[in-house]
Amino acid sequence: MRSRVESDLTLVPAYVALGSNLRDPAAQVRAGFEALAMLPDSRVAAVSSLYLTAPVGHLDQPDFVNAVALIETALAPRALLEELLAIERQFGRVRGVPNGPRTLDLDILLYGDESHEDEALTIPHPRMHERAFVLAPLAEIAPDVMIPGRGSAGALAASVEAGGITKLDAPEQ
Ligand code: ADP
Ligand code: MG
Repeated sequence: MRSRVESDLTLVPAYVALGSNLRDPAAQVRAGFEALAMLPDSRVAAVSSLYLTAPVGHLDQPDFVNAVALIETALAPRALLEELLAIERQFGRVRGVPNGPRTLDLDILLYGDESHEDEALTIPHPRMHERAFVLAPLAEIAPDVMIPGRGSAGALAASVEAGGITKLDAPEQ
């Protein structure tokens, strides 16, 4: 496949969380990896295993499949968010209740060492340090990555309650 990255672009490592609990969630997340691979001026550097996780917040809904991808991107944070929201729409996502069912949710966890705060985007993702369904896949591919003011992904993953989370399978390379 032709690379989506020109050789002279400066790439920033960014971690993206994927989640789905509708219409064959594992297939949605795998297709989500494929969609990330098609992002302009970006490439996928690593993907985690898929994790089956019990719903948090709104409990009366199917289990989720969650994963994390490391991408390297020349897109600015807001441009990356717009691309991810476009992928969510492409996957047929309809926004309903908060924390409710979704075909594909794509969240930016970290974008290099940068913090970003505006009406549409907060980086680091404000709830990532307490969510086992984010920390488990993140720690799998990047145990040493630092969540500013919170600690390493590996240490945080070990410290949160991880009941209700099962690794589904090894990542497909
Ligand atoms: P959640 O992911 O919290 O369940 P949504 O996926 O419905 O909620 O996202 C709602 C909005 O959150 C998005 O439209 C986006 O503008 C905003 N948002 C703020 N910070 C982030 C982030 N780091 N990653 C993705 N979306 C974010
Ligand atoms: Mg989201």
